[in-house]
Amino acid sequence: MTVQEQYDHLVETIQGYNPGADFAMIDKAYRYAVEHHGEQKRKDGSPYVTHPIAVAQIVAEELHLDSESIVAALLHDTIEDTDVTYEDVSREFSPTIANLVEGVSKLSRVVYTTKEEEQMENLRKMLMAMSRDIRVILIKIADRTHNMRTMEYQSKEKQRQKSLETMEIYAPIAHRLGMQRMKWELEDTSLKYLDPVAYNEIETSLESKREEYDAFLARVTKQIEDRLHEMHIPFHRVYGRMKHPYSIYRKMFAQSKTMDEVLDLFAFRVIVDTVADCYNVLGIIHDLYRPLLGRFKDYIGTPKPNMYQSLHTTVMGNSGIPFEVQIRTQEMHEIAEYGIAAHWKYKRGISGAASEGTYEWVRKLLENQENTDAEEFIHTLKVDMFADEVFVFSPKGDVTNLPAGATPIDFAYSIHSAVGNRMTGAKVNGRIVPLDYTLQNGDIVEILTANNAHGPSRDWLSIAKSTEARGKIRQWFKREKRPENIVNGRASFEAELKHAGVSLSDVVGTELESTLLKKLPYSTMDDMYAAIGYGGFSAQKAVSRIHEELQRLHRQRQAEKEATEPVPDNASATRPAIPQRTRSEQGIIVEGLSNCLVKFSKCCTPVPGDDIVGFITRGYGVSVHRCDCPNASRERRKENEGRWIKVSWGSDVRESYLTALEVFAKDSQHLVLDVSSVLSTTNTRVKFLSADATSDGYAVVRLQIYVADSTQLATVMRKLNQISGVMKVDRPAG
Ligand code: MN
Repeated sequence: MTVQEQYDHLVETIQGYNPGADFAMIDKAYRYAVEHHGEQKRKDGSPYVTHPIAVAQIVAEELHLDSESIVAALLHDTIEDTDVTYEDVSREFSPTIANLVEGVSKLSRVVYTTKEEEQMENLRKMLMAMSRDIRVILIKIADRTHNMRTMEYQSKEKQRQKSLETMEIYAPIAHRLGMQRMKWELEDTSLKYLDPVAYNEIETSLESKREEYDAFLARVTKQIEDRLHEMHIPFHRVYGRMKHPYSIYRKMFAQSKTMDEVLDLFAFRVIVDTVADCYNVLGIIHDLYRPLLGRFKDYIGTPKPNMYQSLHTTVMGNSGIPFEVQIRTQEMHEIAEYGIAAHWKYKRGISGAASEGTYEWVRKLLENQENTDAEEFIHTLKVDMFADEVFVFSPKGDVTNLPAGATPIDFAYSIHSAVGNRMTGAKVNGRIVPLDYTLQNGDIVEILTANNAHGPSRDWLSIAKSTEARGKIRQWFKREKRPENIVNGRASFEAELKHAGVSLSDVVGTELESTLLKKLPYSTMDDMYAAIGYGGFSAQKAVSRIHEELQRLHRQRQAEKEATEPVPDNASATRPAIPQRTRSEQGIIVEGLSNCLVKFSKCCTPVPGDDIVGFITRGYGVSVHRCDCPNASRERRKENEGRWIKVSWGSDVRESYLTALEVFAKDSQHLVLDVSSVLSTTNTRVKFLSADATSDGYAVVRLQIYVADSTQLATVMRKLNQISGVMKVDRPAG
């Protein structure tokens, strides 16, 4: 057959089911493919263009797809294998067709390696999810079907690899989409290369008994037909067939049986008009042959998830050979054979179709197709398969599924919490991305880590989409913040001691320390501080345990002072260790509370002028946050309603407040110098400065500085921003 003849046959096929097809565009695609594949040859020596035409033939003949799909099938290897670009196809044909062709090429680029079953399932889902427009996967399956048909010219290695891929990935997808006929063909051709000995044995055995089997098939077919005529039941067709080789192979394998021992080598089909007749025919079959117990299945009442509907029963033939009979309507039959692709032909939806979760989209899709015609229908076939999941690759080719909207942080924690905790950045498809990048299907994600990474920050909790990642981040804060917990715990213990009129140094390192620890379940003071800091124990309780001892000590101190100093007039000055509490504490007015401890939160370091809010902590008074701090977010405030309290800046604010800044910049040798010079020209006192370079040429300078208020801070930030190479100056929070 010449290339032209092969194409003429294709046109004829399309005319057969879709006379209104866009033949001008199909013709243009044919000539375009011929021109661009040019002298390329297939392994068997035939012109390469025979492959896309054959794929288009499958798309037309087996799937009855629309004009765009035929055109895309004809062009499906042009972007990948010729000088044609996406833009060319988009301009010459249409953006939709270019998307279809690019979609098929993308699926071909997915690297396949043998993995465990869970990985396979993810890979299948990913391919389907990547196919956005379901026509992409349909064309891809047609492409694979033709490649399998012509596999004999490939190397042994390639045969095996492609067959495995077909068996593990494409046949199950065909099955899932309800395309039984293509599924069988894919399985049988794969088996031929994966287990040639068994395949030949089955084929030979079927062949040797061909005459006997054919006679049996014809005899039973005639018996059923005769009885249906007798009972005046109209039917489309009664036919029998051998089970296909792979299905026999599986039964032999699973049941450890020889071919002769495998039950139901034969299956008969009765295709009728109405659902009611399906059940009538079932009665007739059971009357004609003895049904085998427990082998009846009603997939009409309860369709399979892939929409399959049929009645199945296994009966014993008169000659003692068992066989299966499947009874269904014409419409059910088409759907069983060609799956959702068959649906163009049916303007009405199926009543009582499957409604199970995962395949819900298929049903909805089909239901929405009522009253649309062939060309129209296919345009709405863009479905979001697995809309709530996203599938990405690790650099090694493992597929991970994450919730839709997931970020590199979710991916990192899905590998291991240690990877997440040491994460410093991420690359997607080889390029650095921000941590809140939304992962796309098929992305290859690489997590950058460093052993001295700072660990997660609070805002990761809102960036991460998976509960797994969020749980692990929370865990980290609980465990890893011990030093911070110790500092906080110690501060509140010290404040509580001051109430009692003694200082920390009166306790730590003295007999009092061991007295206290003996009464508590902590072996060191740090352990106790950590517990107080984390909220597991309170400073008041600690102090009350040594209340008597402290009182004695306090009295002793007073006596010593009175002995050495004259009694001053001002009584309050006699107890300098206890600060005078006014409405304002460290410049903060706490609504409705006086005499309470105030502490500025370390996470967002507020300064006068910032909008602030207070949180009543366990053990160390009110902690002041910026209103825009993630730790004071709306959700957080809801979680602990009642412990959040209004606070404001008083008129007696302190001279300066410690606050933090982060400067992000392109790494430059002068960065630290430039930052220091800004700080010095703005007379800013610095408590801490560190600079880190990332592996990809960026740098972050972390600062802790003292400022009077938000106006001064804004000035400093503006000047820092003006440094060349600086991209962003941030006040960290959370
Ligand atoms: Mn191809």
